[in-house]
Amino acid sequence: MILLSVGYSKNNRDIYVSLNELCKFFRDKNINMAIAENDVGGMHYIKCILKDTEKDIKSFEECRELYYIYCANIIYDFLIREYEVENLEKLISENYEYLDAKDLEEIKSRCISVIMGNGIFTAQDLILSINRKNNILKKIEEYLQESSEIILDGFITFRLREFNSDLQNIIEQVVDEYIAEREYSEFIKLLKYFVDIQESKFESLNIYILNGGDYRIEDDNCNDITKEMFEDFNIENIKGEINKHDLLISSLITSAPKKITIHGIENSQNQEVLDTLKNIFSDKIIYCSGCDRCKNKNIDILIPK
Ligand SMILES: [Zn+2]
Repeated sequence: MILLSVGYSKNNRDIYVSLNELCKFFRDKNINMAIAENDVGGMHYIKCILKDTEKDIKSFEECRELYYIYCANIIYDFLIREYEVENLEKLISENYEYLDAKDLEEIKSRCISVIMGNGIFTAQDLILSINRKNNILKKIEEYLQESSEIILDGFITFRLREFNSDLQNIIEQVVDEYIAEREYSEFIKLLKYFVDIQESKFESLNIYILNGGDYRIEDDNCNDITKEMFEDFNIENIKGEINKHDLLISSLITSAPKKITIHGIENSQNQEVLDTLKNIFSDKIIYCSGCDRCKNKNIDILIPK
């Protein structure tokens, strides 16, 4: 009795290896099944066959659902690696020919991670990745419920066509994220350059992140200079809203201190600011590892002069 017959045109036997392991798994449960493969007219076929005895058929029926869930997963992995990646490469090179080869390579590898479901993603990519995988798996499982014979080339062309728009969405999202990252890194480079050519107004500055996330800037003599640092930027004719985080970054860029010590990092309410400062000032940034004021948790209190 044929449980499953998979046909495909690709020159790859990974699916044989996986289905063979699956057979072994069921044989260990005393269900006699075996695997056979043959080539017919440019197509490779792999068949999973169950011994036609009453005992084997009965035992198989008990774990039939499990068997096809496993098969669907094996077929899914193969489809993605052998067919979808190809599809993806085609879509990327057709639609983003204006990007250079290095960018295309990076975008391609990020997209592959998303469709394969491995790697570290943004929350949005993760949702896309999981949804797509679940939907395709469901399609394969439904198909296997109806038919024990599946030809992958036809299946991907006709049954999975509806998922092509998902693939487009994944690519668009990955490209958007990649371009935003690249723009950010170019902007940081520019700011770094600006800081480097600027004459330092201070040898060293201390930034205290206060309870509640406000900032206080002190010079090395413990003078609170926050007000004068922020003054230049806090003018009404600056269009749009300028917040304390922007003020901090802008004032540090224009004063270009040679050393910045950040205290009370645990009070920070904006990781992005810390990351941006680190990116711009790199090793000029030092994180306080426990000065007297940090140790006594009184960084909110100004040291009386
Ligand atoms: Zn400190």
